[in-house]
Amino acid sequence: MNTKHQTQAMRVGILGFGGLGQAASRILSPKQEMLWVAAADQKGFAYHAEGLQADSAIATYHQQGSVGYLEPWGQLSQHSIAELIEKSEVEGYFLALPNLPNTFMADIARLFIQSGWQGVLVDALKRTSAVEQLLELKDELATAGITYMTGCGATPGLLTAAAALAAQSFAEIHQVKITFGVGIANWEAYRATIREDIAHIPGFGVEKASAMSDQDVADLLDKTNGILALENMEHADDIMLELAGICSREQVTVGGIVDTRNPKKPLSTNVQITGRTFEGKISTHTFTLGDETSMAANVCGPAFGYLKAGIGLHQRGIHGLFTAAEIMPQFVR
Ligand code: NAD
Repeated sequence: MNTKHQTQAMRVGILGFGGLGQAASRILSPKQEMLWVAAADQKGFAYHAEGLQADSAIATYHQQGSVGYLEPWGQLSQHSIAELIEKSEVEGYFLALPNLPNTFMADIARLFIQSGWQGVLVDALKRTSAVEQLLELKDELATAGITYMTGCGATPGLLTAAAALAAQSFAEIHQVKITFGVGIANWEAYRATIREDIAHIPGFGVEKASAMSDQDVADLLDKTNGILALENMEHADDIMLELAGICSREQVTVGGIVDTRNPKKPLSTNVQITGRTFEGKISTHTFTLGDETSMAANVCGPAFGYLKAGIGLHQRGIHGLFTAAEIMPQFVR
C-alpha cells in the first residue's frame, strides 16, 4: 500500500485523457494529498482504488488508443463515463473533456445528476454560452449534492481569479483585458483545444469546427503557418466576472495567439485590470504568467486547486455551482 493511500488522500478521477487529461495525471503523480484512481476516454475507462500510474496509462493510451486497455485495471466501454461513475469510488473529477458540441459539458453534468453520484466536479470550460448552460443546472446540482466548479482552467480560470483579486485595489473597474500566448509542438496533442479555438475564428463557429476532419484542421494550419490569431473571443471570463459583481461582461475582452508548431509561447500571457481608485486615480494592474509555464501547467494546476477547494466546500455541505472568480483555489501538496 502506498503512502498516499495510508494518509487518506482525496481520491480523484480524470475524465478525458487527451492532452490535458494526460498532463493532469502527471501533475498528480508526486502529490501527497490527491490520489489518482480513475480515468475515462471515449472508448474506455480505468479504475484502481489504490492509485493508477500516469506513465503506464499514458503509454497505453498512445499505443492502443484508450485507457480501457490498461492491464489489469482498464475496461473498454461505449459508455465509459456512466460505467466509471457506477463502478468507482471517487470524491472529485477533473473534466478534461472536449466541449464539442457546445452542450457536451452540460450533458455530462446531467449524467452525474441522474446517476445519484455525490461529489465535486471541475471543468475548464471556455465559452460563455457553455457556462450559461451550467448556470441553468445550479439548483439541480445543489439538490443532487454535487459541488460543481466551472471555468477553472487558465482562461477562464487562473487569469479570471487574478482579475478578481486585482480588482480589490479599485473603487470601479473599467476594463479587464486578457491576452494569451500558447505554444504547443503539434496540434494533435490537443485536438479539442485547437478545434474549439478554430471555432472562434470569424466564418467558423462550433458546428463547423466540430465537423472538420483532422486533415481539414491540418490543411487550415498549413495555410496559417501553424498560427491561430484570435480576438474578441466568446470567453466565460466575462460572465464569471459579472456574476462575481466585479464589472459588466462588456468590459472584459479575451484574445490571443496560438502557435501549433512551436512549444515557445508567441507572447506572454497576461491579464490587465484597469480601474479607478477611491482617490480618483486611473491605473492598471498587470498579472503576467511566466513564459516557461505551459498551457497544461496553467490549466491543470488551477483545476486541481479548485478541486481541492471544492472538496472542502462539499465536506461542509455546500453544494451547487461556483466559478473560479468567486472561490480561492487551494494549493495541492
Ligand atoms: P483532447 O482532444 O486532447 O482530448 C479529449 C479527450 O476526451 C480524449 O481522451 C477523448 O477520448 C476524450 N473524450 C471525448 N469524448 C468523450 C466521451 N464521450 N466520453 C469520454 N471521453 C471522451 O482535448 P484537450 O485538448 O486536452 O482539451 C480538453 C478541453 O480543455 C477542451 O474543451 C479545451 O477547450 C479545454 N481547455 C481549456 C482551457 C482553459 O484555460 N480553460 C485551456 C485549454 C483547453
